[in-house]
Amino acid sequence: MPHCECLGDCALYSDAMSTMPGVASIFQMKYCTGNQLTCARYKAYQELGEGNVPADLYPHEHAKLKELLA
Ligand code: SF4
Repeated sequence: MPHCECLGDCALYSDAMSTMPGVASIFQMKYCTGNQLTCARYKAYQELGEGNVPADLYPHEHAKLKELLA
């Protein structure tokens, strides 16, 4: 199954998401191994560069992404 190229470095799988495995699993299916092009974190990687994506930006938070890019 194809997956997002950011998967190995994405903070979604760091400490924050390890405390919410159910939510992480849903995000993973929908975005990481589903369609990363709809992920706000993925778009932030593309626009801001690796290392500039806030750890607390979740894949569905497109309004927050818009604020970051403004
Ligand atoms: S959360 Fe988004 S950026 Fe991170 S691995 Fe999944 S699809 Fe890629």
